[in-house]
Amino acid sequence: MQFRSTLSSEPQIPLIDAVLRCLPSDGGLYVPSQVIDLRQYFLHMDEKTSYKELISTLTPVLLQGALGPEAAARVALGAYDFEPQLQHLDDKLSVLRLYVGPSGTFKDFGVSFLASLLEELIGDQGQGMIISAVRGDSGINLERAFRGRRGLTSVMLYPSGTILGLDPSYYVSQGGNIIPIQIRGTLDDCQRLVTEIIHDRPFAERHGISSANAINPGRLFPQVFYYLYAFTAMRNALLGDLVFSVPSGNFGNLISGLYAWKFGLPVYGFIAAMNGNNSFGDFIRGGKYQPQPLLHTLSPALDVSIPSNYERLSSFYQEAPAVMRNMVFPASVDDQATVKAMEQAWKEYGLILDPHGAVAFGAAREYLKSPENADSHVVVLATGHPAREAALVEKVTGQRVALPEKLQRLKQSSEPLAIIDPQLEALEAAIASCI
Ligand SMILES: *Cc1c(COP(=O)(O)O)cnc(C)c1O
Repeated sequence: MQFRSTLSSEPQIPLIDAVLRCLPSDGGLYVPSQVIDLRQYFLHMDEKTSYKELISTLTPVLLQGALGPEAAARVALGAYDFEPQLQHLDDKLSVLRLYVGPSGTFKDFGVSFLASLLEELIGDQGQGMIISAVRGDSGINLERAFRGRRGLTSVMLYPSGTILGLDPSYYVSQGGNIIPIQIRGTLDDCQRLVTEIIHDRPFAERHGISSANAINPGRLFPQVFYYLYAFTAMRNALLGDLVFSVPSGNFGNLISGLYAWKFGLPVYGFIAAMNGNNSFGDFIRGGKYQPQPLLHTLSPALDVSIPSNYERLSSFYQEAPAVMRNMVFPASVDDQATVKAMEQAWKEYGLILDPHGAVAFGAAREYLKSPENADSHVVVLATGHPAREAALVEKVTGQRVALPEKLQRLKQSSEPLAIIDPQLEALEAAIASCI
């Protein structure tokens, strides 16, 4: 598999270099330029194939040329102690639960695989430092994926305010490998610093710096596996065209679906399920992209006015405009419809969804209402654990969902190891003083 920058078609670099460097020097983002056709590997799999088998078969193929088959299999097996759960609801609908990991969001699939891959690439010989911008409870994602990984230190930058759920016994000050740093500024400042430190090549190379934010293509390609898994698990029972309904904020999940199609997934299309922040819909339909002011909704992970994967989508669009128009169906589900969808899912299927999953469910129901889509089977991606939004879920469904043991920490705020101004020199000095 080869990667290139969104801003130029040359040079093409191998997957491993793209994952380690994270950002091309021309200011673009890495996107795949050549993908491997995986059909010969997954088309014989079916409902008897476990998720573990699927990823340990496909990972060595994807990492060909970078890691030998045994090392690649270690990456796959060391990535997850959880797996997606597919539930068939009826002939038209299924749900794929992706909130089964340590942070209770689908992002665990990308982050955990990346951590396992980086450990295999760096862990034995060198030292790697993974610098990422986080906010609120999103740090727990990275902490769980990276803590205790050989040779890796995970630095998390978060904006003024609190960060939730980190366990201080994994901080470097306690002999661990986690460094939380509070930036006097906004999430944008944190993200800018991540970019700046990667582009400071002497510093970045000395410390082996990469990032686990979605700028890293190594976050996106592991998400391909659960799309393929959903297909293999239901192919023998599938009636009609396969469609995925994807709750979309920064569009990383949806892009992975498009990559899965490039890898050979026989899919009919993807519903880009947005909440009231839906200005991206016009762009997907082929129009110009005009960002609108941000709305705060019941599904906060979808409250994005300029998706960080805009460049990746737009490069995909330039490569294959017809595909985008014919395969990606934009939908918008406002707060009222989100609540209604949550209620319907519970009443009709006994299914408890968080508001992000409810946006995808509501969009799927709308899609299926249209007679031309009557032959589709929609897989709703449930991306967030309902317990993360327990108050709303209880209000709408009357059901109390307990926070699983492993998510209990989410309620506690964590202390930083340093508090600094949003400047690169301050960050580099803070890192030097922590390690
Ligand atoms: C991040 C997130 C999303 C949005 O995913 P994108 O890849 O940014 O489109 C949806 N649901 C939940 C629960 C999330 O945490």
